[in-house]
Amino acid sequence: MKKTLALLLAALLTLSACGGPSGSDRSDNFDELFAYEGVMSNIFLCGTEDTLYFRIFGDSYLYYIDKATGFGGPLCGKPECPHTGKNCNAFANSIDSCPQIYDGRLYWAATAYVDGGTGGVICSMALDGTDRQTVREIREEYYRYDCSTLFHRGYAWNYGAYNEMVDGQNKSCHYVCAIPLDPDEEPVVILNEPFIDNGNGSTVVTLWGDDLYILTVTPILREAEEGSGRQYDTTGRNTYRCMRWDRETGELETLMEEDVQANWTNDLCATEDGLIYTRQPVDLVIDSNGRPVSSWGDHEMEVCRIPYEGGEPEVLFTMRGANQLANRAIAGGVVGGHLWDKENQTLYVQLKDLEGNTLVDDSFKLDWTIHGTFGPYFNFRGVDEDYAYFGELMWDDACGVVAVALDGSGAKMLWTNEAYITEE
Ligand SMILES: [Zn+2]
Repeated sequence: MKKTLALLLAALLTLSACGGPSGSDRSDNFDELFAYEGVMSNIFLCGTEDTLYFRIFGDSYLYYIDKATGFGGPLCGKPECPHTGKNCNAFANSIDSCPQIYDGRLYWAATAYVDGGTGGVICSMALDGTDRQTVREIREEYYRYDCSTLFHRGYAWNYGAYNEMVDGQNKSCHYVCAIPLDPDEEPVVILNEPFIDNGNGSTVVTLWGDDLYILTVTPILREAEEGSGRQYDTTGRNTYRCMRWDRETGELETLMEEDVQANWTNDLCATEDGLIYTRQPVDLVIDSNGRPVSSWGDHEMEVCRIPYEGGEPEVLFTMRGANQLANRAIAGGVVGGHLWDKENQTLYVQLKDLEGNTLVDDSFKLDWTIHGTFGPYFNFRGVDEDYAYFGELMWDDACGVVAVALDGSGAKMLWTNEAYITEE
């Protein structure tokens, strides 16, 4: 236990290095305690020392959970509000981003009609569910509703891989846009790069000081054999490219570019020693239709680092592979994933710090049998000093948040939305 605590403290020290020299400076720095990326997630968490804030995919409300008591519900500080409909402060219709705490308030981005187009709106609210405000509107040309949005040092960063018709072809685009929170300033599109996606493309960003870092994964494809009825075949290889955007000069500098036999990634995080990302090596196999496809095989997942000055990435350590660990993420200096054994109601969790030290490598029995079966949407979402948090959405809209003790002492269902599900 002592060893684990020491490792945890080391992880937290790494964290505060991420966030600045002291905790009080964190408001001006990017908070890495939670994994904010929108892809492959259904419960989007952020939090303070005492409280978790979140949204549920497909649900129109913002929620909170008191960590100590597990009590939670819609985040609305309006007296005598029934918490239904547009006038409730928790109502965040068409919210697109993970809510995030920035400058001591909760921020989020949502789709909105702006100047006759499908643009966006940035909203903020006090952490007690009062004082809800519209920060700014964003015109259609700048806002991608199917992308994620992060908040840092006066900007909303709208990023991801979205789909668009380019030259009559359906293409994906690596997209990053800097949207000033000051409504009088114009947004700047930093990256808008079309590519053909075979399901393995991705675009993620992170922030360190004033700098924005971007990691794009672009599939390397080849033309399919004639008569195969398809246009492209996968090679199993992807180009990983890491860039830094200088907000003074507006220049985009490439720090690293490599072709690897590895899948897409959603994980990029900034630390004092460089940028950390994950990649899952894959095999190229021929499926029953004679089509070359990438297969996970038995490979361990690699946790890699790129120095800020650029250059070769280094594999720091490995995690269990994709067949044994679903939907991995990096948050708060911890790399984590899980596997849910539905038959035995058992949650297997692997958590390591960024040095590769194991924090948790264990299975936990969870007593949560209400509302049918677990869906596949369990995700490691973030950490605090004591717990790693996993969000779970089931097929029938039931959801829950699980807290796994970082000292390995257990796991508990912290909250479920049972009280908010109406039978139809
Ligand atoms: Zn309300």
